[in-house]
This record gives sequence, C-alpha cells and structure tokens, in this order.
Amino acid sequence: MSGVRNTLNRPTSRMGAADRTSAVASSFVVADAGHCIGCKACELACFAVHSQANGIGASVGTVSVPVVPKVYVVHAGDTYVPVQCRHCENAPCAHACPVQAIRQENGVVMIDEELCIGCTSCVLACPFGAIEVSTVYREGRVMTQPGLTDRAAHKALPRTAAGKCDLCAGTNGGQPACVEACPNDVLRLAIVESDPLPERRREVFFPRL
Ligand code: SF4
Ligand code: SF4
Repeated sequence: MSGVRNTLNRPTSRMGAADRTSAVASSFVVADAGHCIGCKACELACFAVHSQANGIGASVGTVSVPVVPKVYVVHAGDTYVPVQCRHCENAPCAHACPVQAIRQENGVVMIDEELCIGCTSCVLACPFGAIEVSTVYREGRVMTQPGLTDRAAHKALPRTAAGKCDLCAGTNGGQPACVEACPNDVLRLAIVESDPLPERRREVFFPRL
C-alpha cells in the first residue's frame, strides 16, 4: 500500500531544529467515533503515560494530581467522540504562539512546556479544540509562576502551560497509549504521506465502515 501507513515515525527528540511548520506529512490519531463506547480508557492511558514526572503509572493509588489527559472524549447525545490534535501540516497553533513554544518535527506538532507562558493563544487558534491550558505539576506538587503573586493572599500563583497530543513522543516507544488502551479498536494511528490516495483513506482508517 502506498500513501497511508499505520506505523509511527517518531521524533528522535522532544524539540529539534526543524522549521516551526515545515510542510511534511502529518501523522495523527483518527477515531472511528461510531464505535466509541465512552469508557475513557484512552483518557486514562494518556494521562498515565504523560505523568511520569508525577510518579504516576504504578496504580490508581499513586494518582495525587488532577487527571488532565491530552485526548478528550466528548459526549453529544448518544454519541461519544474522542478529540485530539490533528498535527496540522500548517499548524495554526504554532503561528499563534508568541514565544515559539510550538514546533513541528517529523510531522508531529509539539509544545515545549518550558517555553510556554500560558497565554492561551494556541487554544483559540486550534480549529479542533485540541489544546488545553492547565496547571503544571511536578512530583505531585503545583509549580509556581516566577514573579507572579496574589498580593492579597501573599502567595505565588500556579504556573500554567498548554498541553495536547504529542503521539506519546519519547514515552512508550510503540503505538500511542490511547490506541493501545482502547478496548473497541476505535483509535488508529495514521500517517498521510506525500501521495495520500484520498480515495483509499476511508478504507484504511475506518475498515469497519
Ligand atoms: S499557551 Fe503556550 S504554547 Fe500556547 S500560544 Fe501561549 S505560549 Fe504558546
Ligand atoms: S493543536 Fe490544533 S491547530 Fe495545532 S496542530 Fe493540532 S489540530 Fe492543528
């Protein structure tokens, strides 16, 4: 088969020298929403694999921070739809970021949490609602924002940063955690290459349709 693959071309590092929005083929997770049962196993798997810095993953008893996944199961009527980043080839979020915290590498759009100032411009720019700005935790504790304090309460304010799907870059080494965790094979990893054969995309991405 040419055009569409179901394997992951992972970046070799979190953030390299690639152009912010170089026009390379994007890889992303697609959802066969009609078969989603709303169990949220994908959300929990995503949270666990991205929460190593907070010591989470051994058991539910180790969870001491809010569960903030990078894939969101949206419930509308009788339908559940997993929503996550599409890794746009010309990513609006990267163009919107004032501090160049968002880059594309090997088709994966990634946010550098250390550079992020939590301005939410990317949240507004994303056409899919795939980005969320939330409080940053390390080792189970809230990180504080340098130089920003609540004068009335005499305490430092929490630091916030944007987060979204990074295809589990640098984490579990296989398929994205959500794809592996889904009990109903709703999620698939797809890479659209330079010759995408659009007439075959539905057949490849959603073989049950
Ligand atoms: S929230 Fe962070 S990643 Fe998003 S646009 Fe602002 S600085 Fe950039
Ligand atoms: S976060 Fe949204 S705008 Fe940015 S690459 Fe992903 S889908 Fe596109």
